[in-house]
Amino acid sequence: MTMTLEQLNQASTADAARMLDGLYEHSPWIAEQALHERPFRSLAHLKHAMCQVLARAGRDAQLGLIRAHPELAGKAMVSQTLTAESTHEQNKAGLTHCTPEELAQIQKLNADYNTKFGWPFILAVRGPRGVGLSKQQIIQAFERRLHGHPDFELQECLRNIHRIVEIRLNDKFGVEPTQGHLVWDWQEKLAEHSDPGFAEKGQLTVTYLTDAHRACAQRLSHWMKDCGFDEIEVDAVGNVVGRYHGSTADAKYLLTGSHYDTVRNGGKYDGRLGIVVPMACVRTLHLQNKRLPFGIEVVGFAEEEGQRYRATFLGSGALIGDFKTEWLTQCDADGISMQQAMQHAGLCVDDIPKIQRDPSNYLGFVEVHIEQGPVLNEMNLPLGVVSSINGSVRFLVKIIGTASHAGTTPMDRRRDAVSAMAELALFMEQRAAQDADSVATIGQLNVPNGSINVVPGVCQFSMDIRAPRDDQRDAVVHNVLAQLQAICDRRGVRYELEETMRVAAAPSAPAWQRRWTQAVQAAGIPVFTLPSGAGHDAMKLHEVMPQAMLFVRGENGGISHNPLESTTSDDMQLCVDAFTHVLHQLETETP
Ligand SMILES: [Zn+2]
Repeated sequence: MTMTLEQLNQASTADAARMLDGLYEHSPWIAEQALHERPFRSLAHLKHAMCQVLARAGRDAQLGLIRAHPELAGKAMVSQTLTAESTHEQNKAGLTHCTPEELAQIQKLNADYNTKFGWPFILAVRGPRGVGLSKQQIIQAFERRLHGHPDFELQECLRNIHRIVEIRLNDKFGVEPTQGHLVWDWQEKLAEHSDPGFAEKGQLTVTYLTDAHRACAQRLSHWMKDCGFDEIEVDAVGNVVGRYHGSTADAKYLLTGSHYDTVRNGGKYDGRLGIVVPMACVRTLHLQNKRLPFGIEVVGFAEEEGQRYRATFLGSGALIGDFKTEWLTQCDADGISMQQAMQHAGLCVDDIPKIQRDPSNYLGFVEVHIEQGPVLNEMNLPLGVVSSINGSVRFLVKIIGTASHAGTTPMDRRRDAVSAMAELALFMEQRAAQDADSVATIGQLNVPNGSINVVPGVCQFSMDIRAPRDDQRDAVVHNVLAQLQAICDRRGVRYELEETMRVAAAPSAPAWQRRWTQAVQAAGIPVFTLPSGAGHDAMKLHEVMPQAMLFVRGENGGISHNPLESTTSDDMQLCVDAFTHVLHQLETETP
C-alpha cells in the first residue's frame, strides 16, 4: 500500500510520523522533526528536510544513528534479527548468500573499521541505481574507506544513511526515478566502449576518434533516433548532433549538450550526463507528440578533454568557428596525425568551417554536468546552479638562488630557491582563501639536479590561479606576483616568469541562470549557487551566445576524472525534471 505526498502533508502529526516509520534505522525522531517543515513540495524537499534535522542534531546524535545500524553481513544478518528493511537491502546486494570466505573477509573488514573509527561501516548497498551493488563493489568500497579520515568517514556514513532512506522513501511512496534510470543506463552502456590498453583492465578511456570513440558516436546517434529526433548527424569533427524541430519552420533552437570523450581511466558521467539528460527530455516530448515554439539541438561534443591531441574544446570550438588548422598536423603518441585520424574516421576536414553556428538562430546554450567537486555532496544538495565558469591564468615560474653546501652554508647566508617558493606557496594559499571562490595551486614542483646535501639553487614550479570573475582573478595574480617580487628581493634570489595560459571567466547569463534557479525551486530543493572551478564546453559557446549550467551532485566526495565518479539515478531524475522545467519555462516566454 503506497502513499502520496498529499496524504503525508494532510495527516495529523502522529499519523504522518507513522507513515514515515522505518526510514532511519531505530531513529524515528529524524522524520518526526522534519514534519515541522510540512507541507512538503516534493519528496526531494522531504529528503532534504530530514538531512537538515540530522545535520543540526550534532555529533552525538549522529553517532547514535550510525551505531543503530547493523554491521554489513554481520551477526544480526546471520542470526536473522535485522529490521525487515535491512534484510531486504542486504539480500538485494547478495550479502545473505555469501560464501564462508566472503563472510570471513567482510567480518574482518567490519572489525578493522570499527577498531579504527569506533562505529560500524555504513554503505547504501542498493547503490546509485537502486538495484544493489555487487559483493565485489561492496568489498572495494569497504577497503577504500578504511583509509579515510575520521571526520570525512563520519559524514560519508551519514550520506550513505540518507541514500538508504531515499530508496526506502521511494519504496514507501511507490516512486521510481524512471527517467533517471534511463539516463543512468545509457551512460552505463556508453561506458562499455573503452580504448585498448584500458578496456582490458575494466577502465574507461575514450579519446578522440579511436574505435571506442566512434562506437560511442554510433550509439548516441541510434539512441537519438529512438528518442524521436528529426535530424541526426555526425558532423565534420565527430560531434553527434540531434535536432528536434520546433512547431514552426523558422523557430529558433535551444542549444545544449556536453562531451562524450573522457580522460584516461575516467568516470562514466563527466560530459555524457549533459548529452543524455536532454535526450531523455526530447524522448518524452516525442512520446507526447509535443512540439515547442523552439527547436532543441543536442550536441555530443567529440572532444573536450585534450587527451589524444592537445586540442582541448575541439568539439565546441568548431561550433563557434574556433577550430585551429594547426591542430591537424599534430600527432598522437603513435605518430598518427589528427588529419589522418579524421580521414580514417570518414570525417571531411574541408567541411569543418561549415559547422560554425550562426548565433542568431539560437536562444542560448545550457549544459548540465556532474559537479566534479565535493560541495553539493557535503551540503546534501542534489542540484546546484552555476554562477560562472572560473577564469584562469597559468604560469611557469623559475626561482634562481645559489646552490651551496648544505652543511657549511649558515642559515642567514643562504640563497635558497625552495624556501622562497615555500613562502610563496603559503601566501598563495592564504590569499586565495580570503576571497569567495578564488583558488590558487602549485601543481608541479621541481628542483632540477637537486641533491640531498645541496641548498637548492633553482626551483621550478607551476601556478594555476582561478576565480569566478576576471577582475577577482587578476587581483589575486597581482598580489601573488607582488609577493613573489618581495620574497625574492628579501632573500636575494631572482625569478623568471612565463604566462602559459589565460582564459576569461564565463559568468552565466542572468536570464538563463534564473531559469535554472526556478527549475531547482520547482523541485522543492533549496537553491544553491556555485561557480565552476573546472572548464566546460559552455565556456566556448559563451563567446557567441548566452549560457548557463546546472550541476548535479557527485557521490564519493564528488571525486571526478576517476572511476569512482558517481551519481544516483534519483539525482539524475531531478536533473531531467529541472531540464524539463526550463523547456516549459522557455515555452511560456516564447511568443
Ligand atoms: Zn566534462
